[in-house]
Amino acid sequence: MGTIKLENVTKSFGATVIIPKVDLEIEDGEFVVFVGPSGSGKSTLLRLIAGLEDVSGGNIAIDGRDVTRVAPAKRGLAMVFQSYALYPHMSVYNNIAFPLKMAGEGKETIDKKVREAARVLNLAAYLERRPGQLSGGQRQRVAIGRAIVRQPTAFLFDEPLSNLDAALRGTMRLEISELHHQLKTTMIYVTHDQVEAMTLADKIVVLNGGNVEQIGSPLELYRKPANLFVAGFIGSPR
Ligand code: ADP
Ligand code: MG
Repeated sequence: MGTIKLENVTKSFGATVIIPKVDLEIEDGEFVVFVGPSGSGKSTLLRLIAGLEDVSGGNIAIDGRDVTRVAPAKRGLAMVFQSYALYPHMSVYNNIAFPLKMAGEGKETIDKKVREAARVLNLAAYLERRPGQLSGGQRQRVAIGRAIVRQPTAFLFDEPLSNLDAALRGTMRLEISELHHQLKTTMIYVTHDQVEAMTLADKIVVLNGGNVEQIGSPLELYRKPANLFVAGFIGSPR
C-alpha cells in the first residue's frame, strides 16, 4: 500500500508562514507531481511528508497510520536525492547496498536485492565501477537504485533531473515513467518543469507562494485551469 493523506498541514519558519494550509490525498500507486516556480514550497512540502521537517500544524498519515511525529526512517518512504549524493569512494554495488547494510540486513539478502535493482535499472554491468566512472544518467539510476532496495511504500523525488542536460532529462523522464509502470509504487515528484509535470503525472499539485492553486490530472489542469496562475503556468489558453 502507499496512500498518503495530508490534513490541514501548515509550516512556518519562525514568523514566516511558508505553507499556509495544505489538504491532499494521494492514492496507492499514484504518480503525483508537485509543480510550481522556485520558492513556491515544493521541497518544503516534500520534506514535511518525508519527516525531514516537522509540521507546524496538521496531520500526515501513511496507509492510515498517523506519522506526523514519526521519525523519517520509520515512515517507510525513500527519498531520491540528486546523483551527487552518491559516495564517490564506493562502488555502485556498495552505494546501492548501503541502506541495507545500515539496516543490518544479511549478506545474501543484500546481494539479491542489489542485483534485482541493478537489473531493473540496467546497471548490472556497472556494479564494480565508482560513480566517477559513470555517465550522469547512470549516476542518477544508482541514486534511484539505493531507494528501490528499501522497497519503500512511496518514492519521493526532489528535482532529480535538474543537474542533467536537456537530452538526458528526456531519456531519464521516460525511464522514471517506465519504473513507475514496473513497480506500481506511489511516487511524489517535485519539479519546476511543466513538461515533466504534464508527461509524468497522474495527479498534479500546482503550488504558488506556498498555496495549492489546483490539484488535478494534467488534462483537467489543461482544460479547466482554476485561475490565471495555473493557466499561465501550465501554458493553456483561458
Ligand atoms: P521550492 O522547492 O518550491 O523552490 P522551498 O520549499 O525550497 O521552495 O522554499 C519555499 C520557501 O520557504 C522559500 O521562500 C524559502 O526561502 C523558504 N524556506 C525553505 N526552507 C527554509 C528554512 N529552513 N528556513 C527558512 N526559510 C526556508
Ligand atoms: Mg526545491
